[in-house]
Amino acid sequence: MTLNEYLNLKPSELKQAINEFPIAWIPLGSLEWHSLHLPLGTDGLKAEAMLRNCAEKFGKGVFFPCRYWSGIDTMKFPYTHEVPKRGEIKFFKRTLEQLYGMGFRYVIILTGHYPTSIVKILQKATQWFMKKHNDAFAIGIPEYYLLADIGYFGDHAAKWETDIMLHFYPDLVDLDILPDNYEHIQRVKELGIMGKDPKIYSNAKNGEKAVNLFTQRMIELINEVVERQNSKLIINMYEAHKKKVKELIDLKNLDPAMDVLGMEEKKDFLKQAKWMIVDRSKGKFEEKSINKEEEEVD
Ligand SMILES: [Zn+2]
Repeated sequence: MTLNEYLNLKPSELKQAINEFPIAWIPLGSLEWHSLHLPLGTDGLKAEAMLRNCAEKFGKGVFFPCRYWSGIDTMKFPYTHEVPKRGEIKFFKRTLEQLYGMGFRYVIILTGHYPTSIVKILQKATQWFMKKHNDAFAIGIPEYYLLADIGYFGDHAAKWETDIMLHFYPDLVDLDILPDNYEHIQRVKELGIMGKDPKIYSNAKNGEKAVNLFTQRMIELINEVVERQNSKLIINMYEAHKKKVKELIDLKNLDPAMDVLGMEEKKDFLKQAKWMIVDRSKGKFEEKSINKEEEEVD
């Protein structure tokens, strides 16, 4: 069966697709700097390709266009778009409600953009939705939620994002453009790479493995939810990931966390934290004046 693309459907075709099986697939991206070697659309390109893989294997449902604009908490690097967090939870609650109104009973949202804020908002909105309707189910995660056991906790323009991009879009990746032997903090500050050095660690085979494992686990989870009609399966998956993150951050043994973050020395934690705090305080004045204008328009 070919997947139904929302953008191409006429109303009668959408109705038929929902009647056949009421599942909506929604990828989320951003317009964000992903270092020198990856395209600015990386988050959405990656989320769409991974989710499409799942949707095609599942063989049913309606595939929605990827949301590229409206990235919240994007990194302060050139050519990057950002909107305030305000309104984001409403956006997802309303989206879920409207999809329910159309007849969808399963909504799968995959975010390729990873700030903690968006992950929390997705979990809040999907849990709210499932509490409200006991005949509807929604999953809202970044792909690494199903891949922590292979050491994938989500990075930025580093090993894992590059692996996945090398698998799906080798022609859009240029590892040669990256300098050699950059220290961790140099990669963070100058290149916007947060995680393991892609120049050393990335390859398409790793990306393929991660994508296949993700697809398999996502399909298993959806099948189980459909069969057992139980939202606990989704909530337990959210909780299981939080537990894995807690286990990773062991103050007595920082080596596993340092490995995931691509840090070479303990002082890299401090250097990165300092950079993020100083950087975030920059540009505050500009934001304030924009917020004031927004309020005037409201
Ligand atoms: Zn990204």
